[in-house]
Amino acid sequence: MDKLTLKAMAKINLGLDVVRRRPDGYHEVRMIMQTVGLYDRLTFEKRKEDTLQLESNMKRLPTDGNNLIIRAAALLKEEFGIREGLLIRLDKRIPVAAGMAGGSTDAAAALTAVNRMFGLGLTAAQLKERAVKIGADVPYCLQGGTALSEGIGEILTALPPAPACHVVVAKPPIHVSTKWVYQNLHLEEVAGHPDIDGMAECIRKGDYPGVAARLSNVLETVTVPRYPVIARIRDFLRENGADGALMSGSGPTVFALFDDRQRAQKALDALRETGLAAQTFLTGLAERTCVEQA
Ligand code: ATP
Repeated sequence: MDKLTLKAMAKINLGLDVVRRRPDGYHEVRMIMQTVGLYDRLTFEKRKEDTLQLESNMKRLPTDGNNLIIRAAALLKEEFGIREGLLIRLDKRIPVAAGMAGGSTDAAAALTAVNRMFGLGLTAAQLKERAVKIGADVPYCLQGGTALSEGIGEILTALPPAPACHVVVAKPPIHVSTKWVYQNLHLEEVAGHPDIDGMAECIRKGDYPGVAARLSNVLETVTVPRYPVIARIRDFLRENGADGALMSGSGPTVFALFDDRQRAQKALDALRETGLAAQTFLTGLAERTCVEQA
């Protein structure tokens, strides 16, 4: 196989709780992860020269070893002594530094591509062992769909697909550092924690109203007071017909769930008129994360 094009899907968090801060500085989380239909497109082409070259439509992204795509491909290339190279083209559509695991899903796609194109024969479990070295969310990005993520993100329990619905995604024109969010999370002051087990149970039962009612993210306690635009977008979507709305990951992206597409489109149109969001999308839930494109 000399050429492969993959769609790498983004994620949202239907629930996000932080259980404790470990002595090594990592945070133990309990998250309900969900793949959505918004994706980056990555094209991998074999090259005779022994180099990894990345081209991207987004000029401010690094194209060297600081890009997770290069890190992921280099990891396998070195371990397996691959002497050929790759030209990788990234068509970035997922908002960057937004809480949608855009970099992690690209890394998962790169691991998948190198494994397949060079016939390494790594199983899903073996790929996940390597994925966690690149980032805590990368193992989930390999698996995709609906899952409970625990530990630092590496302990994954697959859940049945969450009830189908329409998803409005809106990113305000601000940048939020994940590191800053975790540094400013004061767990001892958090009054109520998200009901992660209740959310998992609603998903298992296919209870859409239950899912929409339980959307909760403990990191909002940090970001919302500092960046009120997040709450303004979230509340606007709730007031404009969403069944539920929440910040994803460490933000600042907000998503809203709708069981009716027309209602979702209407809310999206109304949100666009406010100018609160810099990037907006209407998508749906997805069951797979890394999909080959002909
Ligand atoms: P998460 O939900 O895991 O916190 P995120 O959506 O907040 O992820 P990313 O979009 O993955 O954040 O990017 C965070 C940083 O990682 C960016 O500032 C960027 O410079 C760097 N980065 C490295 N590789 C990539 C990539 N392939 N796509 C996006 N960002 C990348």
